[in-house]
Amino acid sequence: MTTPDQTHPDLSRYHRQTLLQSVGEKGQRRLLASTVAIVGCGALGCASADLLARAGIGRLILVDRDTVEPTNLQRQTLYTEADAAEGLPKAAAAAARLQQVNSDIQIESRIADLTPATIGRVLEGSPDLVVDGTDNFLTRYLLNDYCVREGIPFIYGGAISTRGMAGAFLPGGPCLRCLWPQPPGAGGDTCDTVGVLGPGPAIVGGIQASEAIRILAGDRAPGPLVEFELRPLRFRRVDLAPAKDEACICCAKREFEFLDRSGAGEAALCGRDAIQLAAPLGAGVDLEALGKRLAPHGDFRVTRYLLRGELKGEPADAGGRIELTVFADGRTIVGGTTRPERARAIRDRYVGG
Ligand SMILES: [Zn+2]
Repeated sequence: MTTPDQTHPDLSRYHRQTLLQSVGEKGQRRLLASTVAIVGCGALGCASADLLARAGIGRLILVDRDTVEPTNLQRQTLYTEADAAEGLPKAAAAAARLQQVNSDIQIESRIADLTPATIGRVLEGSPDLVVDGTDNFLTRYLLNDYCVREGIPFIYGGAISTRGMAGAFLPGGPCLRCLWPQPPGAGGDTCDTVGVLGPGPAIVGGIQASEAIRILAGDRAPGPLVEFELRPLRFRRVDLAPAKDEACICCAKREFEFLDRSGAGEAALCGRDAIQLAAPLGAGVDLEALGKRLAPHGDFRVTRYLLRGELKGEPADAGGRIELTVFADGRTIVGGTTRPERARAIRDRYVGG
């Protein structure tokens, strides 16, 4: 890792970008002096991190809790078959790849689960901007709280199935909670249950990187939210300004509910090879719908109180299969593991939230 010489950086490799009026040499110097945290190094994070490293963001902080798996390779463009065979942590594999792409910038990998308890440590280093590469709403709301509190831009993005959405939330403008006051709650679609077409997150990550470059180069005008559907192809632009809520609990009242939740919301269950995850804030779970959606992944029993069954594709830590129990309020028990980060990953993957 090298630290760029910010007094006399060599800008020649960025020539095609400094030619642009919207960047120029002045903007390029600003990019080289910037720190960006990319939270989540899945398909979205791969796309945005690749472009931001090439664009010469001086310092990148890459955060992810997962390891590379063969099913990631269809869309997560920074990883190779060798990374999957080794089961490398995504943050480490991405950092290694990007350091080969641009050795002038500083890249830090942080292999961690982002929770209210860990966010201060995981995002240590005063990022100027946070890029959303997450796959779940709880982490997005946590990041929204963090960015509003710190007064830094939050570049939201999401992609699933054949659709996607991206947009920048800037200090003083509407925040994520102005637009959507509560997370949708568990039971929604996830990439692991309904799938995702690779180009979708690549487009979202591209828009996120473009907005990050624009803002860091000095243009802090509010941007729109862009939504698209790839089948059939259709784009839609949503003006964000009218979404500003003067009574927003987060950006107006400055109450940071997601940051303030005590602990990580999870606990190992005594005497059992299982982790319990607290119910997320927001709506409960439609257990019937969840049962139907999970049917391809195993045999699940649904009662009015809970859903329970084993996941075919998820081996338990010590043999057998992972057993998933979801209560109507969203509280989830992941049996067959004692690792909180694995339990959270499985919950986000199959239950959503
Ligand atoms: Zn707000």
